[in-house]
Amino acid sequence: MSAGHPVAPLAGKVALITGASSGIGAAAARVFADQGAAVVLSARREDRLLDLVAGLRRTGAEATHWVADVRSGEEVGRAVEHSVECYGRLDIAFNNAGAGVPKEPMHRLADVNYELVMDTNVRGVWNCMRHEITAMLAGGGGAIINTSSVGGLVASSTAAPYIAAKHAVIGLTKAAAVEYAPHNIRVNAIAPGLTRSEMIDEWFRSSPEAEQRAYRSAPQGRAADPVEVAEAAAWLGSDRASFVTGATLSVDGGRTAW
Ligand code: NAP
Repeated sequence: MSAGHPVAPLAGKVALITGASSGIGAAAARVFADQGAAVVLSARREDRLLDLVAGLRRTGAEATHWVADVRSGEEVGRAVEHSVECYGRLDIAFNNAGAGVPKEPMHRLADVNYELVMDTNVRGVWNCMRHEITAMLAGGGGAIINTSSVGGLVASSTAAPYIAAKHAVIGLTKAAAVEYAPHNIRVNAIAPGLTRSEMIDEWFRSSPEAEQRAYRSAPQGRAADPVEVAEAAAWLGSDRASFVTGATLSVDGGRTAW
């Protein structure tokens, strides 16, 4: 532990996490709380959020939830307001909610797939950041982490709208980082590789050979546990990453280095 840092890296911080009802977001809820943050968990499935909040409170953590669809700026705005009402401010925002597309060649995908992915993954991050930045400006600063993907750095077949959306998340991250650096707000992205979550489990169930193929293209020969991704997000949100902004941190077991 270096001098000048509290024992719990996120002690005293208030963190809003979107996409908190499963996968990486649910893991982040536990990791952030374990590192001392008061957490506000947001997604659409309230039953999942209630279970998570109850579990965290049993460990002594401060936790609350707010149901919001990230495609609606109004709903996201209320989630941010709820964070400030409950805990007095917003220090960290992990904009992690995201949707995938069916694995289909580009010319066969319906427009509706493109719209869902763009609305959730790009407009969602746009909606979140605008409200979060407003709250962080009022509080004197903060740290934002947006979930991109290895698909935001390199392309793969049969996922064109997802690849485009995750590249756009990195663009929004860099733009906000540059714009708000003078205001003590850091903005970074994480780019997870294959990670065990509902999104991936569904894909592997529909195509069992896809799982083996995916592991063959992974230097570590496996998928990440969501906690491994959440740990990286927690670090970017902490004061230990105080000179890191506008960056994209790959958490992919070497996938994009191969
Ligand atoms: P997941 O378990 O399917 O989680 C997705 C989360 O996003 C859920 O909590 C879901 O909650 C929420 N969500 C989806 N649409 C939403 C909407 N319109 N409004 C609010 N919340 C919404 O999958 P995951 O892997 O943890 O995904 C988390 C992030 O990681 C996503 O951005 C994904 O693109 C990214 N990612 C995943 C992988 C991977 O291999 N798993 C790799 C790279 C990047 P509700 O359904 O309850 O709203």
